Amino acid sequence: MKQLAFTLAHELAHYELQHTLNFISKNIESPETRKVMKAFARLKAGQINEKDILMTQAWVYAASSYRREEELAADSLGFLYFKIAISSRTMSELAKNT
Ligand SMILES: [Zn+2]
Repeated sequence: MKQLAFTLAHELAHYELQHTLNFISKNIESPETRKVMKAFARLKAGQINEKDILMTQAWVYAASSYRREEELAADSLGFLYFKIAISSRTMSELAKNT
């Protein structure tokens, strides 16, 4: 039960920190992302070339790094939510039954 509570707290933190909205708005509005999407479309269509591979690879690595930072932030805020929730009587009673 504690694992479920922490997972929910982590996901709630993602929502509160607007991670998905920030990621989408950051990437949709970016001219760099439009270039990468065109490069990716060429690769997907079989027009394989080194420049497009490197551009797509760099974008994926940068996005992954950004997502890792969000995961750490969600863990931190989620842990605070978890501690608050688990200290309430209802959550304590639920935790004892697991
Ligand atoms: Zn997460």
